[in-house]
Amino acid sequence: MARIETPRRVRGTQDIFGEEQRRFARVVDAFEKVRRLYCFQQVQVPVFEATNVFARSMGETSDVVSKEMYTFPDRGDELLTLRPEFTAGICRAYITEGWQQYAPLKLATHGPVFRYERPQKGRYRQFHQIDAEIIGAAEPQADVELLAFADQLLHELGIAEGVTLQLNTLGDAQTREAWRAALVAHFEQHRGELSEDSLTRLEKNPMRILDSKDPRDRPIADAAPDIDAYLTSEAGAFFESVTRGLDAAGVAWTRNARLVRGLDYYRHTAFEFVTGRLGAQGTVLAGGRYDGLIGNLGGAETPGVGWAAGIERLGMLAEAPAAERPDIAVVVERAGYEAQGLALLARLRRAGLSAELFASGSPKKRYDKAVKAEPSEIISIDVRDDAPTVNRRTLRDGANAAAIDTALAGFTIA
Ligand code: ATP
Ligand code: MG
Repeated sequence: MARIETPRRVRGTQDIFGEEQRRFARVVDAFEKVRRLYCFQQVQVPVFEATNVFARSMGETSDVVSKEMYTFPDRGDELLTLRPEFTAGICRAYITEGWQQYAPLKLATHGPVFRYERPQKGRYRQFHQIDAEIIGAAEPQADVELLAFADQLLHELGIAEGVTLQLNTLGDAQTREAWRAALVAHFEQHRGELSEDSLTRLEKNPMRILDSKDPRDRPIADAAPDIDAYLTSEAGAFFESVTRGLDAAGVAWTRNARLVRGLDYYRHTAFEFVTGRLGAQGTVLAGGRYDGLIGNLGGAETPGVGWAAGIERLGMLAEAPAAERPDIAVVVERAGYEAQGLALLARLRRAGLSAELFASGSPKKRYDKAVKAEPSEIISIDVRDDAPTVNRRTLRDGANAAAIDTALAGFTIA
């Protein structure tokens, strides 16, 4: 007889369950809570887009577009890509859905994103991001608000300790042009020592060499000229407004003049929240200002600033929440009283109490099973002296006592 091959989980994907799922939910809940405090609106955008949405906004030469995208022709031969991030799709929606009328728009979303990378701890092919964007605001206050949002989220998760906000400016167009020329001149002098990847970067986007993880590139990248000498007075003033705003808002930061981020679209502010606790996968939240992006996509020039964070990486840092326990366990200790158990269960749940029924298997073992579920209270139905009785026993805090009283009021066993 032919054996059916067992299915396999696709490399780099995850089935998230148990403690991992509780960590995941904790991150999403905290994000949702802080999102409200900062008055960001929720938004949902498609999981896939026309490939050029990502290619044009993130840049053809970026690692993500050149190596990491899940791209395929659909049945109508349209070239589609599973989103590797949220920003490009949100900007596409801003253009195609006429969201200009709502500008400035503060948006928050979360969900799966896809990158064809080498899987390892904290690095997956389908992972999940939370994402926050402000579109249509050119002022440095927008950058400050986004960074304060991120900072408060890390505090809410209890992981702010040990995570550092590294901040840099990439200047405006004029700054970048001058700095780029200086970088090219510097890297040209070290052509022979650079990695092959960085030689390509030198042709296409020399700033990315600063971001290289290749040990051959590091000393050369570290010795490259800083942007500071090339900042126009406008770009310098913008950066100073951001840092002063962060100080005023009580958000700690450090300057990292080597931080460039891997994408073409960043201008002015660029940042990463970094920890030493996750090995090589130390960036937990990252973003910056992308004033050129919407123009690159064919929309009217519109400023924007945003960040994204890996839910899994934040979840790994946060303390694991305890498993959920029911408020009430309803135990039917006597066969024949199952319907009464169901009636009681329904009352409790309709009253907003979480309740689990123990009415199957050996009647003697049901009570012990209920105790193991660690409810705050056990309500059992039994027959004593030929009369059906309802018994209550509080195991943990009695916080639900009043709600249970209300739910039980008028409940009788026939
Ligand atoms: P890295 O340098 O780790 O590759 P990145 O610069 O590619 O990160 P972004 O594109 O800025 O990351 O994405 C924002 C966040 O998403 C990262 O800070 C990280 O928390 C998370 N992230 C990125 N790639 C992955 C992945 N393959 N698996 C899990 N989380 C990821
Ligand atoms: Mg990456």
